[in-house]
Amino acid sequence: MQSCGLAFLGIELVLGTKVKSADVTRKTLLTATGETISYKILIIATGARAIKLEEFEVRGSDAENVCYLRNLADASRLVDVMRSCTGGNAVVVGGGYIGMECTAALVKNQIKVTWVFPGKHCMGRLFTPKIALFYEDYYKSMGVNFIKGTVLTSFENDSGRKVTAVVLKDGRRLPADMVVVGIGIRANTGLFEGQLNMDKGGIKVNGRMQTSNSSVYAVGDVAAFPIKLFGNDVRRLEHVDSARKTARHAVAAIMAPRKTGDLDYLPFFYSRVFTLSWQFYGDNVGEVVHFGDLSSGRFGAYWVDQGRIMGAFLESGSRKEYEAIAKAVKLKATVEDMAKLEREGLEFAFQVSQRAMQESGLVLERLTPCAWHASAAAAAALSIAAFAYWYDWWRPIW
Ligand code: NAD
Repeated sequence: MQSCGLAFLGIELVLGTKVKSADVTRKTLLTATGETISYKILIIATGARAIKLEEFEVRGSDAENVCYLRNLADASRLVDVMRSCTGGNAVVVGGGYIGMECTAALVKNQIKVTWVFPGKHCMGRLFTPKIALFYEDYYKSMGVNFIKGTVLTSFENDSGRKVTAVVLKDGRRLPADMVVVGIGIRANTGLFEGQLNMDKGGIKVNGRMQTSNSSVYAVGDVAAFPIKLFGNDVRRLEHVDSARKTARHAVAAIMAPRKTGDLDYLPFFYSRVFTLSWQFYGDNVGEVVHFGDLSSGRFGAYWVDQGRIMGAFLESGSRKEYEAIAKAVKLKATVEDMAKLEREGLEFAFQVSQRAMQESGLVLERLTPCAWHASAAAAAALSIAAFAYWYDWWRPIW
């Protein structure tokens, strides 16, 4: 067992060690080298693994130029393969987060992309058709070719370990110098199946991140936890923000049990692609009201269920605007008139925030038209700076 001292923090970090089995009754872990680790409290943070194409009867995704993206080694390999393909063709498989973010990165590195996914539009788990259309049009303007409503069925290979083309279910054949696959993840629950209660493909925990065994906690992608805001509906959220906050909450519940209640988490997702950037809060359930101007890229949407705001999405928002939509969701603001909500757009969220601040004795600085322009200019400057940083980061150095 390779041990690394963080003793000054009271932590012993054990690297290069795989846990082969767990016994939550005996409170022990057995490592692959046969050592037994005993614990008083266990926190499971085993995360998730990328779903492989082999699950769909497609063989050969272990080829040299086929990339998944889940860990640091995957990311380094993706960069290496990308560097060897400048000016070439990539096929991106899967219309979710990995597909969307990797397509943008490939284009920025002078690789032509054909983006293939089975759905009618990208980001089907979150985007409405209208929101997806905005991003798809943007991607098309950057030269991305879309093939929707079909899946990959096989690879063609050279005499070595490289893929040269992908074949789709609809019979099309796409020459490829590299392939990126992002078709979802599965939580790593294997060590605990049959020992802990499971839900939503993960390990079920209570609001204190405690599993069905009171000495065992679970956090991050692997944990299915009750969301207070959704009437304690249990969700397994696949996002870094929930990983950070569930981890922090588990530690608080362990270290200060009397002071720590149930986690009150507001689901939050975000992404940055090209010079675009969006945030989403809450749940995408109910009727959707789009607002703003999609053609200018200043737009958003609310999801309204039983007269209450359940979710909110915003592209290119400022910090204050994102805070305002988050507040409207957190408070499940009441909507009396959907047409008015559409007309008011962001103003609705500002009003809700302002009322909440006034009720709590604070005053929120409202965005006047002048401040709006100033904030738009600041956002533009920020986008340019972010673009410069992004480009510098991804700039080919070979
Ligand atoms: P995803 O769940 O976001 O998207 C999966 C996509 O694959 C969907 O479009 C689905 O229709 C498609 N798909 C499913 N089976 C397929 C098949 N056989 N052939 C082709 N397409 C198929 O998953 P992902 O994009 O792989 O991302 C993996 C994880 O990483 C997710 O948990 C995601 O939330 C996370 N992630 C998040 C961010 C972010 O928050 N900004 C960025 C990157 C990754």
